[in-house]
Amino acid sequence: MLEAGSAQLSLGYPDRPGHRGIPVMPAGEFDELVDRAHRSGRAVAAHGIGDAAVAPAVAAYERAHRRWPARPVRHRIEHLEVCPPELLRRMHAFDVIASIQTVFSAGGIESTRALLPAPLRPHLHT
Ligand SMILES: [Zn+2]
Repeated sequence: MLEAGSAQLSLGYPDRPGHRGIPVMPAGEFDELVDRAHRSGRAVAAHGIGDAAVAPAVAAYERAHRRWPARPVRHRIEHLEVCPPELLRRMHAFDVIASIQTVFSAGGIESTRALLPAPLRPHLHT
């Protein structure tokens, strides 16, 4: 959650110097999980709010697709609140589903946007 400071942001939180969110799973463990699932034809749904959580998930999906290209798997990223265009393009290349949860917009998108460092504010997708 951006409000709680748990979402991982590449540029950190403006009101909490040095804080970049809280990782949930070590990258190597996630990569292995994605590879195993993809190889057996199962899709992975990873929850990622901030760009620093989305980027390694997209990278893991890309690696799995390149390693096992014959598998027609569509992985997902749930929530996907902060996602710059470069990451969206990479997701599109492998048909990764962006499971954006627009219901959170009702809570006030501008107050959420204010939590972000200025360069990430245009990339809020709630
Ligand atoms: Zn969520």
